[in-house]
Amino acid sequence: MVNEFLFLLFIAQYSFFISGVDLVSLDAHCHWSFYEDDLESALAELNVHPILVVSVSGEPSAYQKTLEIAKRSPYIIPAFGIHPSRAAEYVNQLDQFTDLIINCLMLGEIGLDHFFIKDTSQYPVQRQLFEFFLNKAKTHNLIVNLHTKGADEETITLLDAYGITRVIMHGYEGPIELLAKVVDRGFYITVSQSVLPQWETTIPHWKRIQTIAQEVPQDLLLTETDGPGPPPRQMPYTKLQPIIAHIAKLRKTNIKEINHTVISNFQSLIHGDSKLNQYSLLLQQSQLAQTDQ
Ligand SMILES: [Zn+2]
Repeated sequence: MVNEFLFLLFIAQYSFFISGVDLVSLDAHCHWSFYEDDLESALAELNVHPILVVSVSGEPSAYQKTLEIAKRSPYIIPAFGIHPSRAAEYVNQLDQFTDLIINCLMLGEIGLDHFFIKDTSQYPVQRQLFEFFLNKAKTHNLIVNLHTKGADEETITLLDAYGITRVIMHGYEGPIELLAKVVDRGFYITVSQSVLPQWETTIPHWKRIQTIAQEVPQDLLLTETDGPGPPPRQMPYTKLQPIIAHIAKLRKTNIKEINHTVISNFQSLIHGDSKLNQYSLLLQQSQLAQTDQ
């Protein structure tokens, strides 16, 4: 009797391996370590509305939290990074992260910030930290999930110098002229919550964000929330949904089409990456589930 019960529990928990789960959408850049008191609710919502999530981290302690959280859901991909705003704290102790990087699935959030960080004396250490990660990305063939605010041109130059090709440009909001360079290189671009109408009066370059969301080629488009943000924290699907809807409106298509596009693009990005096999499988099953309908 007990064995039967345990078996049923097992089936209930792992049924996605057997029947395939219909992933609703993709959040290619968010921070689940920030859910804190709302984590249980977020995991519960994720079970009801499964989206594939890349949960990045901005410092080692956030990564440890994220690894623990990712053990609780097959839909969360943990990524390790040190945010450029933390460069000065960590730049002299990078050797200690080598093993951690070898074992991680993806790098992020890493990059450069010359937009929010105005103190130019920080820029050399930001660059040193970023180059450390790019070197590791090259050596271990890892996807990079990038913060490039106000430093898009320099970021592209560095990616070229290190020969990095598997790139997620998180919430790219740089000059339109540079978009062609990003696209030429086949870098994926996430459209974030800053695209939403509620930001029109607060973000000076909001119109440009609309244009970017319209002009990213279909095969390079990804979606993200950068969530959960400060309390009251929105749940993962609740936060993502209006972003998808607004992108669909801008691109004169529908929500289903955007969801299908971003899932299929993410699948292309991780295809053949042995570290991300389990997520490839999940996406394949999901697409099968979608075509079955
Ligand atoms: Zn972020």
